[in-house]
Amino acid sequence: TKKILLNSRPEGKPDNSNFKFDTENIPEPKDGELLLKSVYVSVDPYLRGRMSDAPSYIPPFEVNKPIKSLVVAEVLESKHDNFKKGDHVSGMLDWKEVQVAKGEDMMKVDKEKAPLSAYLGILGMTGLTAYLGLTEIGKPKEGETLLVSGAAGAVGSTVGQIGKILGLRVVGIAGTDEKVEMLKKEFGFDEGINYNTTENMREAIKKTCPDGVDVYFDNVGGDISDAVLFNINKFSRTVVCGAISIYNETSIPQSNSVQPFLIKKSSLMQGFVISDFADKHPQGVQQLAKWLLEGKLTYTETVEEGFDNIPQAFLDLFEGKNKGKMVVKV
Ligand code: NDP
Repeated sequence: TKKILLNSRPEGKPDNSNFKFDTENIPEPKDGELLLKSVYVSVDPYLRGRMSDAPSYIPPFEVNKPIKSLVVAEVLESKHDNFKKGDHVSGMLDWKEVQVAKGEDMMKVDKEKAPLSAYLGILGMTGLTAYLGLTEIGKPKEGETLLVSGAAGAVGSTVGQIGKILGLRVVGIAGTDEKVEMLKKEFGFDEGINYNTTENMREAIKKTCPDGVDVYFDNVGGDISDAVLFNINKFSRTVVCGAISIYNETSIPQSNSVQPFLIKKSSLMQGFVISDFADKHPQGVQQLAKWLLEGKLTYTETVEEGFDNIPQAFLDLFEGKNKGKMVVKV
């Protein structure tokens, strides 16, 4: 069976040479274990951090060892009482076609309740990041203005919709006109800005957020976020979720100093990792599933086909090739 290993640590932008394909024999599950066949593999920007060995909240991948991410898999054989052959599970798994994992580390997912890939997106880490980041840190209030960067991506498109459900005015920033159209037509954003064709982001934000920005949900960092700071309101909140625009930088880029803005506006800026809210995950998934069922929330995904295309799908995240959640159907 095939597997994908970290071949080398990237310097700057990762490329295909950082990954290596190899094979191994199909292992035998022991008591408490499951034999699993990967069905959908999640590729996520945060994996870039784990390819480096800089200290982080999560240990780095090791060179010559498999890359891991959230995977939905089918149970081929079960030696754990809670699972049977044919069940589907999700969990942190190696990038392998077939593998053995402990049953206790896997969560059963139901393909009757939602499409399997949704458990990697809207009903998985992505949905929770959007919902808990926005509500726990952003503390949005009806009538306020929410600005979302990386708005056409998996997290961003969910944040914007939740903003609308909660009664906010929502503006999104994304990389193409097509994505900006999608934000408005499919996800109900009030306005969108294409950062690739906008010369003066500060002015564009001012124009699309005439009452200023009360909640900024930041997925990208860098220049875009600097431009947002000029438009934040008194007592505004910035949810620092991601910084994809700087994940591939080899040195810390120069940035406008944020302190004067935060002081003048008594503004809060807080980072988070989704595991901070582990106790709220079950309630979060319930809420997301309810909104999905009620048709208040929708999602889009970019599905690449084939195990061999997992690395390329990951690399494509940094080129903005995805709309919504990027997943690979094995
Ligand atoms: P996305 O689906 O948003 O995919 C990445 C998107 O980022 C691309 O489609 C692209 O869209 C945009 N992008 C890529 N390069 C740049 C750049 N240089 N400048 C601006 N935008 C860029 O990924 P996710 O929704 O999975 O993740 C979004 C963010 O949330 C990431 O930063 C991720 O690390 C973070 N995250 C944080 C978590 C946490 O616990 N704190 C948990 C999960 C995710 P475009 O065409 O618009 O440029």
